[in-house]
Amino acid sequence: MTLFPDTPAFSTASMLRRDQWLIRLRWFAALGLFLGVVLLKTIKLGPPTSIFWMGVAVGVLILLNLVYLIFASDKMRLEMPKLVILLNVQMVMDLLVLTLLVYLTGSEESPLTFFYVFHIILASIIFPGGFSYLYSMLVIILYSSLLLMEHSIYVDHICFFHEIHLADDIRIVIAIWFIVVVTMTVSAYLAQSVTERHRRVREKLEIANQKLQEINQTKTTFFRYASHEMKSPVATVQSTLMVIDDVLGEKIDDRVKDMVRRAISRTKEMIEMLKDLADLTYGNFQERQKFEELDLNAFLAELVSDAQPNIDRKNQIISYQAPEMPCKYFGDSNALNKIFVNLISNAIRYTQDQGEIKVVLKQNSRGYLVVVSDNGSGIPDSEQVNIFKEFYRTPSARKQISEGTGLGLAIVMRMVELHDGSIQVESREGYGSKFTITLPIEENL
Ligand code: ADP
Repeated sequence: MTLFPDTPAFSTASMLRRDQWLIRLRWFAALGLFLGVVLLKTIKLGPPTSIFWMGVAVGVLILLNLVYLIFASDKMRLEMPKLVILLNVQMVMDLLVLTLLVYLTGSEESPLTFFYVFHIILASIIFPGGFSYLYSMLVIILYSSLLLMEHSIYVDHICFFHEIHLADDIRIVIAIWFIVVVTMTVSAYLAQSVTERHRRVREKLEIANQKLQEINQTKTTFFRYASHEMKSPVATVQSTLMVIDDVLGEKIDDRVKDMVRRAISRTKEMIEMLKDLADLTYGNFQERQKFEELDLNAFLAELVSDAQPNIDRKNQIISYQAPEMPCKYFGDSNALNKIFVNLISNAIRYTQDQGEIKVVLKQNSRGYLVVVSDNGSGIPDSEQVNIFKEFYRTPSARKQISEGTGLGLAIVMRMVELHDGSIQVESREGYGSKFTITLPIEENL
């Protein structure tokens, strides 16, 4: 068993993050101690020389933290063992400074003794199992040595809060020492078991998540492969049926002709479904994603004008409203195409003849909003949570419009997520629907 398990929790990157966290925490500790020193000086509590040396100790802590910070960029190049040694050096130096502060504030009388617990908790968070016990041992050694030294002739006790010297009564000293030792050991045990349990759960979740991703990838590959491979034979069947319909249409009897036409329409539906299935997997493969800079304004204007023939067929009106300037956006034009073609075609399909469809593009500080609205059939409240699910079609849609796979909005959702965006629907049955897409702008643009 190695001291540092080879898990994401103990990778070089996570140790570096912990190092930065420790440096940040130390700034807060130094600030708190500095304020404490100022307060003690103001209310004139404690001997002035002690307060002076406490100030010096805080200064040392700040200096040390500056050194750690300055060398932080060099640490990026360090290998794991050296990084661990550096982190331990920091923790031990902190403990030495704290022991000095404990001494200056009265040793066994010092309330700062409680701060040792923070170090033990920190050790259990930063290092793997066992380290918190090592640190609790170190704390006990440092604290015991301090008390022993005070009972020797080399170090004088500092009466910080009052003139009565607790250290005169050895029974009190032993009682306090015992309580400190128990507190440190129990803290080490508690901190250790809580963090270990948390780590184990996290690792299990990470493994489960990885497995799920693999399963999802296999499923996606299967969908892509199956839809791609099935499209050409179905297309061949469809064109053969069309040829039969064209060439023999007049010669075959009406019953057969009707069957051939129904078969053609079925193959058409099937090709649509296969196309949608392929679209659903789009973006799951790195090599197919192509982000590029484009003008969202011109892009949408073109899609709206492409929709005109379908709009005319239903005598509908479509309008497009946008700022009068190019709207730069970094996105995947193929995926964006799928989003807006699906939304506009839904709006056309689920809106009665002479209905009205509006596409609006707005810009705000976070990115773009694209609203596609219509005054069509609308979606009942109870159905709105389901419409983004794969293969879901509302019962009224099934009844009124036979064509449709129930995959359109699921595709839209995936493509929006690919752009870190979001989609919202507002709708009232009988009055129309409004789909709002938010596309955040990449910060590095
Ligand atoms: P499809 O249109 O193939 O049924 P979608 O995933 O695109 O599948 O849409 C799912 C369901 O959401 C549709 O069946 C329809 O009931 C509803 N829907 C989507 N867009 C609209 C809209 N603009 N107006 C009314 N209902 C809509």
